[in-house]
Amino acid sequence: MIRKGSDYIKSLKEGNHGEVYYNGEKVEDLVDHPAFKVPIRTVANYYDLHWKEDTLRVYNTDVGQETSISFFRPKSKEDLRKLREGLVKIYDYYHGYFGRSPDYLNLWTTVFYAHSEDYFGKAFGNKIMENVINIYKESTSKDHFYTHAIVAPMYDRSRPPSQWEDPYIQVGVVKETPEGVIVKGAAMICTAGPYAEMLWYMPNIRRDTDPRYAIYFSIPTNTKGVKFIARRGFYPKEYSEFEYPISSKFEESDSILIFDDVLIPWDRIIFYKKPEEIEDFMWHKVQLRTWFNWHFVIQHYCRMKFYAGLAMAMAEAVGINNFINVQEKLGEILLYLSMNEGALIGAEEAGESLPNIYRPNPFISIAASNFNMHALPRIHELLRLIPGGSSIPIPAGIKDFENPEERKMLDKYMASKGLSALDRVKLFNLLWDVIGSESGIRYEQYDRFSRGDPTLRWAQMYSEVFKEKKEQYIKLVKDILDQMPDPRK
Ligand SMILES: Cc1cc2nc3c(=O)[nH]c(=O)nc-3n(C[C@H](O)[C@H](O)[C@H](O)COP(=O)(O)OP(=O)(O)OC[C@H]3O[C@@H](n4cnc5c(N)ncnc54)[C@H](O)[C@@H]3O)c2cc1C
Repeated sequence: MIRKGSDYIKSLKEGNHGEVYYNGEKVEDLVDHPAFKVPIRTVANYYDLHWKEDTLRVYNTDVGQETSISFFRPKSKEDLRKLREGLVKIYDYYHGYFGRSPDYLNLWTTVFYAHSEDYFGKAFGNKIMENVINIYKESTSKDHFYTHAIVAPMYDRSRPPSQWEDPYIQVGVVKETPEGVIVKGAAMICTAGPYAEMLWYMPNIRRDTDPRYAIYFSIPTNTKGVKFIARRGFYPKEYSEFEYPISSKFEESDSILIFDDVLIPWDRIIFYKKPEEIEDFMWHKVQLRTWFNWHFVIQHYCRMKFYAGLAMAMAEAVGINNFINVQEKLGEILLYLSMNEGALIGAEEAGESLPNIYRPNPFISIAASNFNMHALPRIHELLRLIPGGSSIPIPAGIKDFENPEERKMLDKYMASKGLSALDRVKLFNLLWDVIGSESGIRYEQYDRFSRGDPTLRWAQMYSEVFKEKKEQYIKLVKDILDQMPDPRK
């Protein structure tokens, strides 16, 4: 089944969301709340987009009905291309923003389903394998919006959570009951938590983690004891799309997710008590890392197209596009854009054909996503450098154009060679919402940190990702060394 935007809004109004706290209050009317109404409308648009773009709806042979392309399990290179093209369509609509859109976790659920037998069944037994299959079937038939959280609160990163003063700051199993397990603790960051109908909890544990933390599950967000504390909304109430063209469309809300003694039924658990399984899950059999990084590259590629357009439009509007130093910066953005397009095509071409899924190439997908942890903030820097100080003196708001006396001055002094005053102000408001507003800076943090810290991720390229290729590359050096003559004795 594929829902419409109105189905999603109706579902939220019927109470299919968690207990949400905002600025000291428990939120009653979520749908019209100033901090959540923008992302809720955008998620509704996501569902409606499926009814405007035929390629986003596919007949899904795994469940015998039409579903969103985001539930499509690719079985060949052509299938993966079809999935990528569908996701690009979604992220072109978002201009590369709104990365925690429903499709993101639909992809995860589909990947788990593809590995239900060869991973979940083998590692955890038949019951968990059935859970994985049933959750996929439920997700495809209900088309609910999932959020997720994987990281423990930042209490003390120098010690494992089991050694913290309270071992239940990180989510852990308190006790087992015949119905399921009781969990307690919190997770950050949970983007979209306040307006999601379902959640995946999947901590980024290590193999030596205390087993009480090794649990992955999916539950409705309105399960008793599930709570979200939301951060401040970044779209200022007193302004409109004119002043904040990005915040007003693509602001995502972030939150802390709290489990206050929550019962997780046995049939909602897909990973339990075996922290040593994490490497196979993340790196080998399921390779969740490959999939989410591949999805990130799609988001990044779509955003880079928008960034390139913004940089060129701005440079051309104020007549700086012929300066060599500006052209160099425009070229740098286009270079990152092309590399990302190449990475997506390459990841498909050099993908892996597994028994139940065709997977993008892990080296290319992870490398491109990690590279973008630096490339995207660098593009923000370039977008600040190209216009120089002219990004600053922009009139406060649309009302400046409604005052006839002021309008005359604006029309003369805010116009540029290529644009009327009004169009120039619109363009520079867009620029500021990208590089300077609270939403803009939040996205910069997201680009740097949403897959973990860039230093650790870059170091991991050596210590983990390319580990098996290491000898192959070192051999190239050895071959030359072996050909070099030794001194005569
Ligand atoms: C806007 C945004 C939205 C997000 N949305 C979600 C979401 O919806 N769901 C979700 O699950 N996650 C989400 N994340 C990701 C997540 O919550 C964390 O931000 C991410 O995993 C990074 O972890 P951390 O913040 O705990 O930082 P850490 O990885 O702990 O790093 C913090 C600092 O400590 C240093 N450090 C940490 N460990 C080490 C070490 N071993 N050695 C040396 N230095 C170290 C780092 O270099 C860094 O400077 C989001 C992130 C952002 C920024």
